[in-house]
Amino acid sequence: MNIYIIGSGIVGLTIGIKIKEKFKNLRVTIIEKEEFSIKHGSGRNSGIIHSGVYYPSETLKAKLCIDGAKQLKNYVKNKKLWIDECGKILVPTNDVSYKNLDLLINRAKENKVEANLISNAEAIKLEPNLSPDFEKAILIPFTSIVNPKEVMNSLLKDFINLGGEINYNEEVVNIDSKVNKIKTKKNHFNFDYVINCSGLHSDRIAKSAGLEFNYSFLPFKGKYWKIKKKYKLNKLVYPVPDLNFPFLGVHTAHNKDHEAFLGPTSTPVFGRESYSFFENFKLSEITELLPSFFIKILKNQNNLRNLAIRELKMLTKGGLIKEIKKLIKNVESEDLYFYEEKTGIRSQIFDNTSKNLINDFVVKKFNNNQMHVLNAVSPAFTASFGFADYIIKEMYIN
Ligand SMILES: Cc1cc2nc3c(=O)[nH]c(=O)nc-3n(C[C@H](O)[C@H](O)[C@H](O)COP(=O)(O)OP(=O)(O)OC[C@H]3O[C@@H](n4cnc5c(N)ncnc54)[C@H](O)[C@@H]3O)c2cc1C
Repeated sequence: MNIYIIGSGIVGLTIGIKIKEKFKNLRVTIIEKEEFSIKHGSGRNSGIIHSGVYYPSETLKAKLCIDGAKQLKNYVKNKKLWIDECGKILVPTNDVSYKNLDLLINRAKENKVEANLISNAEAIKLEPNLSPDFEKAILIPFTSIVNPKEVMNSLLKDFINLGGEINYNEEVVNIDSKVNKIKTKKNHFNFDYVINCSGLHSDRIAKSAGLEFNYSFLPFKGKYWKIKKKYKLNKLVYPVPDLNFPFLGVHTAHNKDHEAFLGPTSTPVFGRESYSFFENFKLSEITELLPSFFIKILKNQNNLRNLAIRELKMLTKGGLIKEIKKLIKNVESEDLYFYEEKTGIRSQIFDNTSKNLINDFVVKKFNNNQMHVLNAVSPAFTASFGFADYIIKEMYIN
């Protein structure tokens, strides 16, 4: 059996690894359009191993994040990769987040994740950099941070060692479902089974195969700033989020050298890979995305106008620092610089029927020999091992 996976991000790679581990004799090939595997989401994220408190228990996100997080932690520890099991403090920063404190504690209980309501004094003892203006916060001990590039490089080695193949510089143009053929710009590949994990391009490839759905692609860019001065954080610090949106809000992140970062923002972007203003500028994408965003913002569908206004303010350092000061103290705008290399774009989809941003992962089976992973947004990095188990179960390989 010839299995092809489109996309060598963490979702495609972990699926490839788990198939090879379970079924040694199957031929598994990943087709990747870039010359390496960390050019997009899987190499451009905060590296947080999320606990799963945010998501309603019946969602795929809750199930796959909770299971995947445990597996990813074990993997990182077994491979002796860098991990800081520091835990996270969620701080309320506005009326919406105060209302969500109890809701999140209840969700944590439902999802069997430890989350404790702590007082201002307890929180500040754990993280002295916290801004003092809140009464209660939530401590989630499980949350950890890793280096996403290091994890990806390790997974790549594993996949190759298991006998998996990766064809780089092969951009898939379409899937011809009638003859089970993947067409790339240079070649074609005959498949018995194909799994589409192409992140920012998954919806397009799924449509090319003939899969029908009423979603539009609505990417959001996430920018990060680095704190120039020495700023050691004991904990990850997040705002209590507005749970109507799939974005968790600008938060802290750090690396093994204790360098501190702030981000990611969530601003609409009019190119699927426009990490900087003119990068990968494609007129066809602008004409696809700009009117779509404009109409949704004009009609304020899913409160997108309010979100856009909130997030646009954070495009400037001044606007960003205002939000940051609600979380941590002793940081001024002159302490920050824009850290371009970490900028990421979320492969978010919008449901044109319910008029909402889709909050959950979406997986679509097609023609008995295709699986399309759509909306692999955060926490798909955390969830990836759980995602892979789920996909393999759904494939029924015998
Ligand atoms: C700013 C930001 C911060 C985040 N922070 C976190 C976090 O802290 N924790 C967490 O769990 N998650 C986080 N996420 C989410 C996480 O990074 C992504 O959900 C995850 O990396 C998605 O992996 P993927 O394999 O689906 O996509 P990708 O990593 O984008 O991989 C898809 C691959 O498909 C390839 N491809 C695309 N089109 C084609 C084509 N036509 N032909 C061949 N190949 C193709 C691409 O080149 C790419 O390599 C964050 C995301 C962003 C944007």
